[in-house]
Amino acid sequence: MTPCGLCGALDISRASAIIRQVDTARSYRRCRGCSSIVLVPLPTVEANEHFEGDRAAEHQERSDNARAGYFARRLDLVERYAGGRGRLLDVGCSTGLLLEQAHALGWQVEGVELSRALAAAARRRNAEVVIHETDFLAWGEEAHGRYDALVALDVFEHVLEPRAFVARAAALLRPGGVLLVQTPNAGSLRARLHGERWNMLLPEYHFHLPSARALGGLMQREGLAVRVLTTTSGSGSERGLAGAMARAKEALLAPARLGNALLVVATRHAS
Ligand SMILES: [Zn+2]
Repeated sequence: MTPCGLCGALDISRASAIIRQVDTARSYRRCRGCSSIVLVPLPTVEANEHFEGDRAAEHQERSDNARAGYFARRLDLVERYAGGRGRLLDVGCSTGLLLEQAHALGWQVEGVELSRALAAAARRRNAEVVIHETDFLAWGEEAHGRYDALVALDVFEHVLEPRAFVARAAALLRPGGVLLVQTPNAGSLRARLHGERWNMLLPEYHFHLPSARALGGLMQREGLAVRVLTTTSGSGSERGLAGAMARAKEALLAPARLGNALLVVATRHAS
């Protein structure tokens, strides 16, 4: 019995349809309970650590400048629900660009980053900011209730234990604090059309690709109130005309939650 890591309801190795057979042992499956896509079986924690270096390279290739507007829009959203600028934790802070922007806006910021290379880059960019170089789930018990906002962009899909991840995130927030998560959308038009060729099916990195329903439900079960549950075009890194086209497509797809990425804003219950 291997319960789905997102809905917990069904045996994912049985009650699911195979989306892609990765190799003789592994497959991506769509849970019949929640419509999320899960890699079965999941790698062990030890095996997952071997991919840290590759992930660092993947992130550094992206253009920081192109991401600045995208981060600014996410920070606006967080501030709206947090009711101000207090302590913000960026989980999977990569090279620290979002931290730099948030700090400039007046947030007190800290980051968590598993990759040594990325944590070093984040420290170079943010000289006076604390970057916790650790696995998020192995950290944070001493910091419960500390943060007004917690941001996790393109991180959730890499997590081996989604429920523990959300529980820890909720615990780190003060009552009323805000969690913002963005992750690939298993219910997206692209995922449905491309099937086994969906470009988010990366078995070395992506283990849980949730549906909107599954991610919202998981947050509610862990004591969070879902305020926003919508979809976006994804990384939002396109500029100029390409960016305008991506945002127009985003506006068309969002009402049916068919966009490439899920965007969820949730707040911790007041008591
Ligand atoms: Zn499920």
